[in-house]
Amino acid sequence: MILILLGAPGAGKGTQAQRLQNTHGLVQLSTGDMLRAAVAAGTDVGKQAKSVMERGELVSDDIMTRIISERLDQPDCEKGVILDGFPRTEAQAEALDSMLNDKKMSLNAVIEMKTDDGVLVERITGRYTCAKCGAGYHDSFLKPVKYGVCDKCGGTEFSRRSDDNAETVSSRLQSYHNQTAPLLPYYKEKGILKQVDGMADIDEVTRQIEALIS
Ligand code: AMP
Repeated sequence: MILILLGAPGAGKGTQAQRLQNTHGLVQLSTGDMLRAAVAAGTDVGKQAKSVMERGELVSDDIMTRIISERLDQPDCEKGVILDGFPRTEAQAEALDSMLNDKKMSLNAVIEMKTDDGVLVERITGRYTCAKCGAGYHDSFLKPVKYGVCDKCGGTEFSRRSDDNAETVSSRLQSYHNQTAPLLPYYKEKGILKQVDGMADIDEVTRQIEALIS
């Protein structure tokens, strides 16, 4: 199964993709995570992406398409994947169609996580992850059961993304509306666009996604 989670930054794509990975054995392909790993490792891609990401703009379509195409060729992706953060432009969507065609794979569904921009700044600026296992938390909406200890792995170190600040969020939202939202009619026309209420609580969104893909 190949699923795309489409939504504004902070819509909950990463959270839901992690859940789908755990429950369905699909592989979460987060282009944001891949880029952050490239930045941390200081690779050529990381060097090119760093300042673009800090400005809340989009990394070039060529780089992104190459990263995803290479990742899809790895054997673990045969189980199926959830694309989280890709495609983000019409050029990427078209490149995805043609690479899936070449690889004899097909897209099962595109799930739009609908949100209002008003809630996203609070969602984004309050979120953090376990530095050891990557589990996601939020200062107000999703705290670990025991303060300072990850529920999943017992880790005690957490990190926040450097682009999760109010200034960068507004340009990330602008990028979403200008460059990514036009993909909604693109996939609607193909008859594979589905929607869930991204404003609902996390478990309810999971239920809605499960209902769509079961
Ligand atoms: P995310 O973790 O999905 O919020 O992505 C963080 C940042 O990585 C974005 O603000 C972009 O700068 C960059 N990025 C991630 N995925 C893409 C993509 N498909 N195309 C272009 N830039 C991307």
